[in-house]
Amino acid sequence: KRLEELTVEDTTCGYCAVGCRFDLYSDGEEILAARPTAEEDAPVNGISTCVKGKFGYNFVNSDDRLTSPLVRDENGEFREATWDEAYSRVVEGFDRIRDDHGAESLSLIASSKATNEENYLMGKFARQVLGTNSVDNCNRLCHSSTVAGLAQSYGYGAASVSTEDLEIADCILLTGSNTTEAHPVLATRIKQNVRDGADLLVFDPREVQIAEYATQYSRIKPGYDAVWINGLIRHIINNDLYDKEFVENRVTGYEPEEAPDHEAADDREERVDKRETGFEAVKESVQEFTPEVVEEVTGVPHEEVVSAAETIAAADACVFGWTLGLTEHSHGTENVLAMANLAAITGNLGKPGAGVSPFRGQNNVQGGGGDMGPLPDNFPGYQDIADDELRAKFEDAWDCEISPEYGYYTTQMFLAADRGDIRGMYIIGENAALSEPGVNHAEQVLSDLDFLVVQDLFVNETAQYADVVLPACSFVEKTGTFTNTDRTVQMVKQVMEPKGDSRPDWEILQDLANRMGREWDYESSAEIMEEVNSVTPIYGGMTHERIEAEGGLQWPCWDEDHPGTKRLYEEQFNTDNGKANLQAVGYSEPAETPDSEYPLSLTTGRVLYQYHTGTMTHRSDGMMQYTPSDFVEVHPETAGEFDIESGEMVTIESRRGEIVVPAQVTDRVGPDTVFVPIHFAESAVNRLTDEEHLDPAAATPEYKVSAVRISPA
Ligand code: SF4
Repeated sequence: KRLEELTVEDTTCGYCAVGCRFDLYSDGEEILAARPTAEEDAPVNGISTCVKGKFGYNFVNSDDRLTSPLVRDENGEFREATWDEAYSRVVEGFDRIRDDHGAESLSLIASSKATNEENYLMGKFARQVLGTNSVDNCNRLCHSSTVAGLAQSYGYGAASVSTEDLEIADCILLTGSNTTEAHPVLATRIKQNVRDGADLLVFDPREVQIAEYATQYSRIKPGYDAVWINGLIRHIINNDLYDKEFVENRVTGYEPEEAPDHEAADDREERVDKRETGFEAVKESVQEFTPEVVEEVTGVPHEEVVSAAETIAAADACVFGWTLGLTEHSHGTENVLAMANLAAITGNLGKPGAGVSPFRGQNNVQGGGGDMGPLPDNFPGYQDIADDELRAKFEDAWDCEISPEYGYYTTQMFLAADRGDIRGMYIIGENAALSEPGVNHAEQVLSDLDFLVVQDLFVNETAQYADVVLPACSFVEKTGTFTNTDRTVQMVKQVMEPKGDSRPDWEILQDLANRMGREWDYESSAEIMEEVNSVTPIYGGMTHERIEAEGGLQWPCWDEDHPGTKRLYEEQFNTDNGKANLQAVGYSEPAETPDSEYPLSLTTGRVLYQYHTGTMTHRSDGMMQYTPSDFVEVHPETAGEFDIESGEMVTIESRRGEIVVPAQVTDRVGPDTVFVPIHFAESAVNRLTDEEHLDPAAATPEYKVSAVRISPA
């Protein structure tokens, strides 16, 4: 068919959090074309999209799509059911647990693939309808340490920059980010800036593709990020290269008259985590991280520590970008605190081309996963549930009592279920059976639950343990908003009717709420957003009408006259005294370090043609042509040592499980590291990762370092 004969809507990508906008064309049955929106209406992506945004739509019409609810029959097998029967089973299951064990035995995992409006309702449903604060989302598995670290340092746990800052920065430091494959359109913008003369510094255990463009690529040993970041800070401070005016005026604890001596500590045991605050405390705490110590601990040659520090200090404006290589650690929050210190002492905040830019993963993890408050400790807009005044506001708005006790984080829910403290779960649009750390443990927990409801497009690996499966809609079948990685809230438009009997998440939640005694009567997602506006100050002025008319709005947007906020912290930080609150970060190491039994560090990540646990990309033909199966990257020296040939099947074992995958012998990784993608159920790499050692502040697991051994299969 010709394009002009098709239905077309401009919408926002449902894959990653770059938030590309494009026009989607449909004949009512399937998506037939995607064309980038006109550049002036799509400031995030300009005219670019990546391969997933162009071709990744077959999943919508996959034969595997759930088109009616499923319940278990008398033999324990799934059978199709009416919505009425499925809803009755759900209500009965949740009521039974609540009556027998209390509402706090229930939990809800919300979906960063769903819209803001739907995630707002997921948080409301957990607190008002189920009566539990144990509601969380996939943010816990990736960037919650970013949120914790940046919120402590600056006040907001989000990117301070706009995407355009990546194009005008003089210098960009990237760490733990395979930007070309995980955030392709951002990588394009960074590469263009580098071609125009910007410096690019890449610190990563893998020589990722964007390192080809780098002024300096430094290979780091996985798990010691705060050490090399502190080394950069030390060199900048001790050589008087920091931004004194910024530090004096905008950072807490600047006491220039009290200059401490700069002797490096020679006793490693003295590397205590002081977590004292202020510039002077940071200055003192970094003194032990001499270039030589950094080289010894992280493997970064001392000359590279010095040259990177001097490049950052010489730049007029620097963006510090990172992804999960920095955050998915048992001390991820400390890594982020250290990065926040580096950005602040160099004055790289609140001005064009400068700031912190954590690249968020799922399309709506910023908005749905955080801003909308499906969180155990926060209401929408990061309003603390322990604050009496804020809790009273939500009790009034939602007409319910809310406990001031924080609920369980996602990672803690699985440990609590082991103890019998969590007995029922409602999992929406997340594939916990593959994405949780230590999936052998996660599978056991899911199969032992008293009651599990899964709401998804497919009977994914998690749904196989469910008592009831509810069929949801994809982003092309509903309307709402997503918030991308630079805090831009953008419209998502319905292009096709829902497949079969599937329904948007917000309609399912409303039906269930009303069957459980509430009176929800939202007629559209725009109405839900109006309620969000009324209780969420940072979204106060973001109506659908404005978002559509203005092509997106960045939070905070306090009221209908506020233009939104392109760059955070231009005037002041969102802290009590308006200044950046730096914290001293000491030495830390991974919870599990390689030893004689398990001599290698396993690290995990994404590839361009796949996405997360593969529920969408494995059902999109265009994606499966290129990276259809799993692999492990092994350095040639390591391959020689363990007698492994490229292409040969290899067993990888950790203390928690084993998988078998073909080897790719490559010097992309160092000799001490192996890398496996996260996308494949048949060789789920999270069988090897550790569910127990969590970041103390954010409960993020340590996906990026597991001690493993390898051998020919
Ligand atoms: Fe979608 Fe991300 Fe690709 Fe843009 S870069 S088209 S948002 S997957």
